[in-house]
Amino acid sequence: MAEVGVVPWKKHSFVVGPNGHLFKCELGIHDIREAVGVLAEPTITTKMKKRLPVVSTGSKAHAWEAFNPFDRELCSTCQFVPICKSGCPKKVMEGSEQFMSGTCEYWDTNFVQMVHEAYAGSK
Ligand code: SF4
Repeated sequence: MAEVGVVPWKKHSFVVGPNGHLFKCELGIHDIREAVGVLAEPTITTKMKKRLPVVSTGSKAHAWEAFNPFDRELCSTCQFVPICKSGCPKKVMEGSEQFMSGTCEYWDTNFVQMVHEAYAGSK
């Protein structure tokens, strides 16, 4: 899956919490169980000034690496899956049916208009 879109899809992208914890989603920074790692104190070397090494990895709350929109039957046959990717991975993993149905409705309602606007803007 291409690394485009929100932070969870980008292997090397994180949200840094106020205490140095790393998260894959800003919606989870209030819950330390969602942290996928934590930054160590800055290490100053001659090669890499002020680099902040990750000292632990692995979220207790979500299996971010395992998430695949094609695992959802509904999404696996959906025409919007290349751009939608099931919407918000966090909400999908938490089973938020309200969010997921809203995501489908969003693309169903807006996609054609978005294409028209993009085409008009390209002229
Ligand atoms: S629009 Fe709905 S069914 Fe299609 S990929 Fe997005 S969440 Fe899945």
